Amino acid sequence: MAWTRFGKKKDMPGGLWEKCESCGTMIFRKDFPKARICPECGHHFSLDLMSRLKLTVDEGSFEEYWAEMETIDRLGFADRIPYSEKIERTVKKTGRKEAVLTGTCRIGGIETAIGIMDFSFLGGSMGVVVGEKIARLVDMAHDKKLPLVIFCASGGARMHEGALSLMQMAKTCASLERYQKNGGFYVSVLTNPTTGGVTASFATVADVILAEPGALIGFAGPRVIKTTLKQDLPKGFQRAEFLIEKGQVDRIVPRDAMRKELARLLAYGVRRDPLAAMALVAGEESKAKAGAEAGEGDA
Ligand SMILES: [Zn+2]
Repeated sequence: MAWTRFGKKKDMPGGLWEKCESCGTMIFRKDFPKARICPECGHHFSLDLMSRLKLTVDEGSFEEYWAEMETIDRLGFADRIPYSEKIERTVKKTGRKEAVLTGTCRIGGIETAIGIMDFSFLGGSMGVVVGEKIARLVDMAHDKKLPLVIFCASGGARMHEGALSLMQMAKTCASLERYQKNGGFYVSVLTNPTTGGVTASFATVADVILAEPGALIGFAGPRVIKTTLKQDLPKGFQRAEFLIEKGQVDRIVPRDAMRKELARLLAYGVRRDPLAAMALVAGEESKAKAGAEAGEGDA
């Protein structure tokens, strides 16, 4: 009854609450855990690029590479608006020049080459620059003898760049082939959604393939497959939990446990002590938690 006093819905202070798309729980934004996991049902909300980076790497250890690489509209492509304009708008909106962040970092004290895809940048699609940055990242990991982690999130190859985008599949895989042949260790993390040409190339040729709970992972979308096959698809089709049973994913790891899991795997990959790497992560995480709680007390 009292609610009516506040007038229409649009007068409500916006953005304070977020509704879980899975269980419907309303979550107060301030109480949202940093990993953006629903406290009621464990649903993983989408996570922005910089939060993902912060959640994954040892504090202050990230160094970005090739941030200045820019996309050029080589084909003069236009759908509703010219591709060049679309790029310009997206750069302005996201403050980043392309759909992948690449560089080096430490995870559990282990020097690592890292790539994180950004779904908010044209659906994380892979054009020439994304492909080139991934290939360079792999080549750098090869030359510096670093292990490699790539967080994937993508709608697939970027059709605005035509066949040039498809060539990135071969290019990234060629770099990975050389890297792995010479002893490189690559962990791929599939987040929601990982589809199309990214699934069909660098996302799925890793030594270990992790996935976040509930992540959609596939090549073509379920609707396309359904109309092509003219039959109903099984329940949970193309979700991480379905794919682990089929052997396409090695392990499903909740987001708030991902950093520790990566530290453990990377330590095995470079023959270091996995317990020491995990302890380092646990130490930093509890320090951060204590800091956050102290901060709350002050406020
Ligand atoms: Zn929920």
